[in-house]
Amino acid sequence: MTDNVYSTICPGCNFGCGLYIRENGTLEVDFRKSSPANAGKLCRFGMSLPKLYAPAKSVIDGKEVTLEDAAKEAAKRISAGSAAFLSFGNTTCEELVAFQKVAGSYLCTGANFEALPKDTYQTLSVGIPYSEIEAAKHIVLFIDPYEQYPLILRRLLSAKKKGAKITAVWWKSMPVASETIKPSDVSKLALTKDSLVIADFHPLSDSEQVKSVLALAKNAGARITFLKPFANSTGAYLLSKDAKQKSLAQLIDDINKGTIKTLFCLESDPSALIPSETLSKLTNLIIQTGQSSSAKANIVIAHEPLYKKKGTLINNEGRAQALGGAGTNGLDALGIIAGSKFEFNALHDSLKKAIGISAVDEFTIPKYDRPAYGAIQAAAKPPETKTALLSVYNPFMWFNLADDNDFVELNLNTAKALKLLKGGTLKIKSNGASIEKKFKVAPVQENVLITTRKFGIEKGMLTSVEISR
Ligand code: SF4
Repeated sequence: MTDNVYSTICPGCNFGCGLYIRENGTLEVDFRKSSPANAGKLCRFGMSLPKLYAPAKSVIDGKEVTLEDAAKEAAKRISAGSAAFLSFGNTTCEELVAFQKVAGSYLCTGANFEALPKDTYQTLSVGIPYSEIEAAKHIVLFIDPYEQYPLILRRLLSAKKKGAKITAVWWKSMPVASETIKPSDVSKLALTKDSLVIADFHPLSDSEQVKSVLALAKNAGARITFLKPFANSTGAYLLSKDAKQKSLAQLIDDINKGTIKTLFCLESDPSALIPSETLSKLTNLIIQTGQSSSAKANIVIAHEPLYKKKGTLINNEGRAQALGGAGTNGLDALGIIAGSKFEFNALHDSLKKAIGISAVDEFTIPKYDRPAYGAIQAAAKPPETKTALLSVYNPFMWFNLADDNDFVELNLNTAKALKLLKGGTLKIKSNGASIEKKFKVAPVQENVLITTRKFGIEKGMLTSVEISR
């Protein structure tokens, strides 16, 4: 049997790491040293891609059907009205352009742009080139690179080697940073025009916190770049900048109120971000996907996985990267829903026009406007003083993929005060629910537990909890 090898991009985050997927009965990951984003290196999520790409089947109400029949039935149910369209940007730019045409007036990319000043849209959508991170003199991290965007660490280490000072504003000390400032002490942070702030922006970002970090950078004349969690978050935001978008909170509210009855999700697993009680209120959950999804959908339109698609992704630097596949089944399904076939080349031309390029070349970053933004008033809430569970969203969490890290981190004083036993567990109570988890002692701040797993008791990124042995 001849192996099929696809040159592709990891969907785990917007860093845009290149790799090869080899099909030879099973799936294997091979390194692609020529990739400009990661020079072949991958994090443990990138190495787990064969698990992510579990194949999906097209179904209507539990019965297996063809892709075409599933798409036709989806079109029928969508045309009944009260439909919303959600895509976090985990697919090609070409599909996203088509998706916007299908979505009409209820498009949700997951981000809450309405709550943020319009003149910050471009700053939030396109980050700065990684070469600028490597050349920075002072880098301030409002992220945990180890867990959230691991390949940025190589750039940070390279900057450090060249003499950069790295400050972390985080709940835990990090080996890469020479100083750590508690998020509640952020007023002690000294920024200058030589500082480069690295934060992130995602569907669960607190808008006031985002504004607050934008204001810090603005007031100091520092540069700021936002990392994002989905392979084509940047493409999704750039291509929909003129579209009227709904926030995820608005979508959840509308489903709860009953004004949205049908939800169509393109390459996005809604159960990662929408509570199951809300999803159960829908009359129709329709998921178009290239991999199995954990949400229970009425209709699944299953097509080729991302690595087999033809199309373009835009990474956090704004670098356009071509996928190495030839599949257009996803686009064809969208054509059935729209009632007329989408031509790949026309969509590809729209993408090139939107970012001002004549050809996709992964080795050249297009020139983006990096407009300044005005003064920002932020009212970020100070973190809770009692014990909080901090959910550090990482690729495994965004994709609802099982991760081996099934524990919480806490500091030694807390472990001693609770008389926790080595190898034992910790009881965590919140929102009327109680769970018992293994723990690990780590350089975490007082009153904080850190997890990179979803436990089902969370309310946002910081959840107030009670803990006991
Ligand atoms: S850093 Fe992001 S894009 Fe790169 S391998 Fe890890 S999850 Fe994938």
